[in-house]
Amino acid sequence: METTTSHHSGTLICQSCGMPMAGAELQGTDREGKKTDEYCVYCYESGEFKQPETTMEVMADLCAGFMVEEGMDEAEARRILADSLPRLKRWSTVTEI
Ligand SMILES: [Zn+2]
Repeated sequence: METTTSHHSGTLICQSCGMPMAGAELQGTDREGKKTDEYCVYCYESGEFKQPETTMEVMADLCAGFMVEEGMDEAEARRILADSLPRLKRWSTVTEI
């Protein structure tokens, strides 16, 4: 499948929360305990989402909280998330935030 998220060559992006996975320790694991390229350790472990019931809206709230903690303006954080989350694989079937 063609994806629009792959132009950051080198750094893997979590396809659930959009976090750059700068090191293998940030990558989640599949059922066999092997590292997955798709999801981070906070979202995905042993082949399952840690919060399987979460929605893109909840994820946006969570991510906005972290971004504001890192000094970003909340409106700016939400604008970025509204633009980037729907492109991620986990939310690609969701059309609005
Ligand atoms: Zn993640």
